[in-house]
Parts: sequence; C-alpha cells; structure tokens
Amino acid sequence: MGSKKVGLVYTDEYQKYNFGDRHPLRPLRIKLTYSLMEKLGLLKNERLEILSPRMCSKEELEMVHSSDYINAVKKLSEDPDDKTVKPYVYGLGPGDNPVFKGMYEASSLVCGASLVAADIIWKENDFNFAFNPAGGLHHAMRNKASGFCIFNDIAVAIKHLKKLKKDIKIAYLDIDAHHGDGVQWLFYNDPNVLKISLHESGKFLFPGTGESKEIGEGNGLGYTINFPLLPGTSNKMYLKIFRTCIPKILETYNPDILLTQLGVDTHFNDPLTQLGLSISIYRDLAQTMETCVTDYCNNRWLAFGGGGYLMSVVPRAWAIFLAKMLDVELENKLPDSWIEEVKKTVPYEDTPYLLWDRNDKIEVQLLAHPELAKKMIDYNKSLVKLCDEKYLPTLSKS
Ligand SMILES: [Zn+2]
Repeated sequence: MGSKKVGLVYTDEYQKYNFGDRHPLRPLRIKLTYSLMEKLGLLKNERLEILSPRMCSKEELEMVHSSDYINAVKKLSEDPDDKTVKPYVYGLGPGDNPVFKGMYEASSLVCGASLVAADIIWKENDFNFAFNPAGGLHHAMRNKASGFCIFNDIAVAIKHLKKLKKDIKIAYLDIDAHHGDGVQWLFYNDPNVLKISLHESGKFLFPGTGESKEIGEGNGLGYTINFPLLPGTSNKMYLKIFRTCIPKILETYNPDILLTQLGVDTHFNDPLTQLGLSISIYRDLAQTMETCVTDYCNNRWLAFGGGGYLMSVVPRAWAIFLAKMLDVELENKLPDSWIEEVKKTVPYEDTPYLLWDRNDKIEVQLLAHPELAKKMIDYNKSLVKLCDEKYLPTLSKS
C-alpha cells in the first residue's frame, strides 16, 4: 500500500495552454478537475501535497526536441504572425495545433510540471506517487507538434529520469483512446523504456498507428506492446484484457517506476472517439494500477493526464485516480456545489449527478447484437493470445 505522500502538481497557470474557444482541448477541464478534488476533500488529505510546477528549460526540452523546432515554437509564441517561420513544417497552424501567443511558455510549464513530479518521486524518499493532470502530451514528436501536443512532457520526464539514474528501467502505460505514438517512436529502440499502449485501433482513429506488429526495433525489439481495440469496446471487454495482460507484463519487466498516461477519452460519450467505456471502469483500472505499482514497480507511480473532451467526465475520472493514490474510498455521489459549477460552465453537456456512471448502454447494445459481440470477444482473445505467446516470452528472455 502506498502509505507515503502523494504529490499533485497544479497551478491556475495551466489555463494558458489554450488553443482557443473552438478547440476541443479546453483547459477548463483541469480547473474543474481541481475543483472537484477540492470539493471531495481530497486536497485536505494529510498524505497529499500540492506542488507548484516550474518552467522547463530550453536545454531540458532539447533532450527530446530539435532546437530548430523549439526555436520555431518560441518565435511563433512571441508573434503568431511571424512570417519568418512556416508553422505547417512543424505541425502547427489551423486545425489540430493552432498557433497561439504564449504557447512556448504554456507548453514549457506543462513539461516543467512533469519534471517536478518525476523529481519528487525519484529524489524524495517520502513521496511515492505524483500526478500532473496537465501532462500526458503523448503525440508530440521530435520535430513537430501533433494531436494537440506541442512538447512531449512524458518524453522529457523519461529523459530526465534516465539522467538521474543511467540504467533506470521505466514502464510506460498509456490508456488514452489514441495511440501513444510520440513516446513510442521517441524510445522505439530503447529496452529500458517499456512502452505499453491500449487504444482504439489506428484503423479507425488518429494517429493511425499502434498496430500489434509495432514491437520496437534494434535493442528495443520486444519493448513496445500495443493493444489496438475495436470501436464500441465495453468495460467488461477492456477489463478482461487489462487485468489478464498488464500485471503479467509489469511483473515480467519489473521496472523501477511506472509512468501512466491517463487519457480518459475512452469514455462512451467522448466526442472524438468511439470506445465504449464508462467512468466506473476508471476505479477498476486505478485499483489494478496501484496493485501493480506496489507489487511490481518499486512502489513508484508517476501519472500524467491526457485526452478527454467532456468537461463533466474528465474531472470525475481523474478524481477517482487521485483518490486511489490516497487510498480514499469515495462514495458514488457528487458535491452539489460542483454540480452547480458544471451546470454554469458547461451548460451544453449533460449534467452529472453521480461520481461514476453505469455502463448499461454499451452492454445492452452489445446484447442486441450478439454476432458483433462475439466478433469483438474473439478479437480481444486474439490480443490476449498474442500477449501470452509473443510479448511475454520476448520480455522474459531479456
Ligand atoms: Zn486521446
């Protein structure tokens, strides 16, 4: 059990990572998350410490990104109309990653927050878990922005940890609905970073990668593990794969620390994706993760946020994860004052009244389509088989 302290890295300055009112990634979700955590009493917990982030330096960004790209972001951040930089060369511009004033500082702050989280776990003996809800920008590449991610804070944190301990073994588990491509490609040949991603198959969803045949290269062969899932995957189906495979993988790899990207765009109502999970699954996932951290990952857990495009869903899911880190059992209800806040700030979303919702919708739909359900179950069995017969034997040989 994690009886030591838990760090939550937070600042209102996270609101500055903002692509504009019409962009799906709204920083409001972080604010509503913090507010819910506070109203549930989690921030008063004696084991919790709220940590202020710092800015990540240019040198630290250069551990992951090219200076050419960093300079371009910096210039456009100062003057979004700077004609000496071609934004589209760097994945920036109208669409997913619009240029905005101050984006260099906003992105560096998110990276710095992940560094604070990494440091507190690795250097301070009385902390074993830390959570940066603004982090998890897993799509950013060495030379370009991608999928709402300008700088890859996860990769920066990984590089930082590798500097603190040269031969550190890191397991990275990504449950975002989108494939964790940036982290995968940045460490594709690195056996000391195990990349595990469960996501909606790239056949149906951005970024299009994350097939089970992507298993790493060179020394990293066997250290990339992908579970591409079908649209409509339900809690029951997802949990079956998760609980069967993830603990075995982590036990076999036995890392020094577990990093998790906790994207919750896997929710059945998420506007950008088609998976079929409901909030109650995040309690189960948090439980399994915590057990894995304690048993197989040296009791060190560094958690990042990630996707999630319903302002009423993200806060509930991430409050559940924080509660698990603190060993707090939450009841299935929401504070009235938070419900009012959601009504006021996101009137166009269904008002939530319970902390976790039920998943009847997807399970009932599947009952009505037994052939489809069988196909999905068979497909998931093939993923578990792949894990047992291919991924695990390769890992245990190392
Ligand atoms: Zn996502």
